[in-house]
Amino acid sequence: MARFFHAMEKCFAVFPRYGKMFSIVWKTAAGLIAAFLILVFALVCLHAPAGRDATLAGETMGTAYSIRIAHAALNESELNDLHKEIRQWLANINWEFSAYLPDSKLSRFNRAGAGEPVDISPDFQRVVRRALEIAAATGGAFDPTVGALVNLWGFGPDGRRREPPSPDSLAAAREKTGWRHLALTADGFLVKDIPALQLDLGAIAKGFGVDKIAELLRDRGVANFLVEIGGETRAKGYNVHGQPWRVGVLRPDYAPAAPVLQGVARLAGGRAIATSGDYRNFFRGENGAVETHIIDPRTAAPARHATASVSVLANDCLTADALATALFVLGPDEGLPLLATRFPGSEALFLLRAADGRFTEAPSPGWAAKTRYRPAGAD
Ligand code: AMP
Ligand code: MG
Repeated sequence: MARFFHAMEKCFAVFPRYGKMFSIVWKTAAGLIAAFLILVFALVCLHAPAGRDATLAGETMGTAYSIRIAHAALNESELNDLHKEIRQWLANINWEFSAYLPDSKLSRFNRAGAGEPVDISPDFQRVVRRALEIAAATGGAFDPTVGALVNLWGFGPDGRRREPPSPDSLAAAREKTGWRHLALTADGFLVKDIPALQLDLGAIAKGFGVDKIAELLRDRGVANFLVEIGGETRAKGYNVHGQPWRVGVLRPDYAPAAPVLQGVARLAGGRAIATSGDYRNFFRGENGAVETHIIDPRTAAPARHATASVSVLANDCLTADALATALFVLGPDEGLPLLATRFPGSEALFLLRAADGRFTEAPSPGWAAKTRYRPAGAD
């Protein structure tokens, strides 16, 4: 470059008229480049998100929640008010859906008689309506009336157990289940046609809580957030670095000294990811076999197969949560075809436990592209 200018200088010394022309062209070009750079800088500044970054955290539904907010146009006191409102919503949800609170709406319905309509809130109606749709679409693999079996196996409010229940008690509990015994009337009442039917919304309530908080944040004009309750997540916009939110998929080890990531997914566009697995809530039954808290309604026993966990991507967290439970019951051979035909747009990643204790991944065809999933450590 220096040589080029040196040559040009020499040339202009011989032809001064061309030297003046070169100087004009050069100055104009330099001016245009400077103007362009200023414009680019201004555009970057305009688009660079400004505002408050925050994390709101606490406990709900027997687990932890965290809400990460990026670049929100909220001051400290507005943020505190928002958190107060969220805590109130979560308390309401618990008050409606908890099987552990004897006076919750759900517990009162469980004590109601056959044919006795129980008045439920619009939110409760929304959850039950979707639960029944997903029960029908999954052939009953997801069943919100599985409560008696969940209890019998020691995963409900009646407390833990160490060994499998007797065949007689299993047969009796089975008689008390079945989503077809549950109905939502046109005017929003909930009814059952067998008195002992026990509603259990444990596989869907966290997802609903996440959706509810996401709706609240959107109503308050928060454009960038990641909401998480006990591992069920929903994200919108971008994180504090202006990147899509990242959600870790845990390696489903039974008793890790510390949680280890299997991979990382990107979550945006208001979508949700929920995970169900056998590695958190289980006991060891005969011959040390793992008995997990997810019941296969077809066998009335904990789902037992190579699936260690399944993560589901869906447009809302209520659906992702219910589908994760259903797909855990079904396993990849039945679950992946069902997902493709009945839930187009949703994706899943199964982690399967191999004989040597390692995990293999069985994703649906669109999982990697839609979540930009990468194995842990690959970034
Ligand atoms: P999740 O961790 O979301 O898969 O939910 C598991 C919880 O849902 C269990 O602790 C039970 O309360 C309940 N549950 C167990 N099996 C089923 C099932 N097949 N369908 C619906 N809910 C279930
Ligand atoms: Mg679930």
